[in-house]
Order: sequence, then structure tokens, then C-alpha cells
Amino acid sequence: MRPAQPHKIRAVRGEAVAVARSLLLVHASELLTLRGPKGPRAREAASDLGILEDGAVYAEGERIVDVGTSAEILTRHPRAATTLDASGKVVLPGFVDAHTHAIFAGSRAQEVEWKAQGLTYAEIAARGGGILHTVRATREASEADLARLGLERLLAFVSLGTTTVEVKSGYGLQTQDELKMLRAAADAARTAGVDVVPTFLGAHAVPPEFEGRSDAYLDLLISETLPAVALARSAAYCDVFVEEGYFSAAQGRRLLQKAASLGLPGKVHADELSDTGGAALAAEVRAVSADHLLHASDAGIEAMARAGVIATLLPATSLASRMPFADGRRLLAAGVPVALGTDFNPNAWCESMQLVIALACHHNGLLPAQAIMAATVNAAYAVGRGEDVGTIERGKLADLLVLDAPSYHHLGYRIGGDLVEAVVKRGRVRKGRALTK
Ligand code: FE
Repeated sequence: MRPAQPHKIRAVRGEAVAVARSLLLVHASELLTLRGPKGPRAREAASDLGILEDGAVYAEGERIVDVGTSAEILTRHPRAATTLDASGKVVLPGFVDAHTHAIFAGSRAQEVEWKAQGLTYAEIAARGGGILHTVRATREASEADLARLGLERLLAFVSLGTTTVEVKSGYGLQTQDELKMLRAAADAARTAGVDVVPTFLGAHAVPPEFEGRSDAYLDLLISETLPAVALARSAAYCDVFVEEGYFSAAQGRRLLQKAASLGLPGKVHADELSDTGGAALAAEVRAVSADHLLHASDAGIEAMARAGVIATLLPATSLASRMPFADGRRLLAAGVPVALGTDFNPNAWCESMQLVIALACHHNGLLPAQAIMAATVNAAYAVGRGEDVGTIERGKLADLLVLDAPSYHHLGYRIGGDLVEAVVKRGRVRKGRALTK
């Protein structure tokens, strides 16, 4: 193994014979390939990072062509248009953030003071805060404004190492504004050069004009909004907030069955504030994921394991909402694959999967290796992109991170900083370029 050169990443222009848009990333002290069987990883496989020492990756265009030790890769591919020297550093796949609400207008910065003063969510809502504040601002915003806000946020995600992001609608709560949010997300994704997986979350809350009439709002979603979203092909999933005061499991079932008939698989905001049968519903309708799960029942978790539903844990929300943390170890022991997301939203403004991984280790009971699996492979499958991203293997997208750390354990260890020194998205260096001169 080469001696470590921990101080900088060096990228140099290759010779003329190098393939255009080719990239070599060499001498990673730990290359976390996460190679393994197709599908989300559970049980023992959930902590096997497939580490190569002095590892290297060669990519052409957007895709990985070869992975191995630096000696092997430099023999087969001696030069490239761009070379990154990761001596002494960790290389891993770009993070996949499996759950965000990154498109919205307005600010709820004021609510931090109210939270600090001990106000409850209901008291904050009574002061004009909470989700309906965001709904008002988002309805008033133009599509271009939402796209611009989304772009700024997506660029912040990339800088912190996230290369694929799920983004939900759910602050329009009427057909034209839900469609507006989804178009803005797609626009922001194109401009940011990030892969965004859009999810329709019209059933995020009951809008004020339907107060006390959640069934009537659900009828509207089923008869009008969901078909319009499906027709526009503007979402990959349909999600529902199953919780007391929002939507019941029976209402969620109606919505997700209709969504399935229109070709949209389900996701469920499940058992966040109380056990309302969200986990069991996700299993029953074969949802791709059930998210939150702070209060999931044993029966719900067992049903998820049998149905192959992924558990997406969102510890930054527990932090911001002063709630307990989901028991990740209990889910893993039951054989449920665990994924992670930031749940970036106006009440919990967190773009950092690095922070989420540290929280998952300290509060959800995940080992650092399990948290990294949850933030890459399992998150990729939770958003339907497992065939393309989440591992460093031949044929996958060249979405790569270089961490300024000697071992992957530092991802769980270091809280609230930024270890990501370089980001490669679809073969292009997006961060770390300043170090190439
Ligand atoms: Fe959420």
C-alpha cells in the first residue's frame, strides 16, 4: 500500500490519449464498494461494506467501467482526462437521501424560538406556524420561484455529498399547486444536475378548506389530483401521512390502492407520533417503504419484514421535533432493511446525510457500517434507483465521494461537520475542483 498523502486531493489533466470524460480515482485507503447481491440488504449483509484497500475506480462518461486495487486499475487504465488522488482517504458511493420535502416557499425560522420556549406543535399552529403556514406560502409562490428555491437547496445537498434525492410534493394540497411543486422539483433537478425521484404527497395534511372533511379531500385526491399526477408522469411514488388528525390507515389504503392502479407504488409516513397501523398498511399494500416508524408495533414490523418493505428512518426530525428516535436495531433484528433520509422540510432544515448517519449511530442504534448501507444501497432501493446507484460497481453511475477521513467510522463519529472533500456526480467532479490547480 502506498504511503498516505492525507493533505490534498490532486486532480491533473491527462494526456491527449485519455478517453474524453474519463475519470480515475486512485489510492483510496478504504474504497467502500458496497458490492453484493441485488436488492436492499438486511441482517448480516446490512453491515458488509465490501472494502478494498488502496482501491481505485475508472469511469467513462457517466458510468463506472472498472473497480479494483490501484495497481490493477492503473495497469488496465493508465490515464484518464481527470485523475483524483485519494491517498489516505475514504471513497464511497454518493449518498441517496430517501425522504425530503425540499420544495416549499416561506420560512419558519421564527418557530425555533417558539420551540425553545416550549410551545407545542398545536400552539405553534395556533400562532400561524406549522404546515399550513408553508401551504399558504407555497400556494402563493410561482413555479419559477419554487424551482429557484429548490435549486439552491439541491446544490447544498450535493456539496454535502448527496447525489440522488427523493423530493415530495404536499404543500400545495390542491391539484394545480401539487402539479406546480412536482414540475418545480423536476426543473430544479435538471438545473442542479442531481437525480431527483419525485413523490406525490397530496395526502400530507387536510387543507384548510376541507377542515373536518378529510374523506371529501381524499375523494378529490382520488378522483382528480392523483389521476392528473399520473397522466403528467410527474411522480414515481404516492405517499400518505397516516396519523391521528391526518389520514387513517383505511384512508391510506384507499389512496394507495388507487395509486397502484395508476402505476404508482406506495410509500407511507407511518407510526411517527403514535401507532396508527402505518407499518402494517405499508406491508399490506406492498409499499416500497414505510418512513419514520417511531411507534411501530411488533406485528407491523414483522409484516414489513415478510413483505420486504424498507424502513426509512429520519432521525433529524426526531431531533428538530423533540421526539424519541426510531429503534433501528429492532428493525434490523426483525430482518427489515433500513434506509435513511434527512426529511429536509421547513420544520427540520437538514440537508446533511452526514449528520443523519451520525444521529443514526448515536440514537437509532445502527453501527456505522449499517448506517452507511442505509444511506447508500438501501436508500437507493427505497427510491427505486438500486439498479443505478448506491454501490461502486461496474455499470453503475459514477456517483462518488471522497471523505477527508482515514476510516469510514468517522462518518458516525464526527457530528455536524463536513467530511466530504470531493463529489463526483455522473462522472463529473462537482466539488473538490478548486484542489485541482
Ligand atoms: Fe416527511
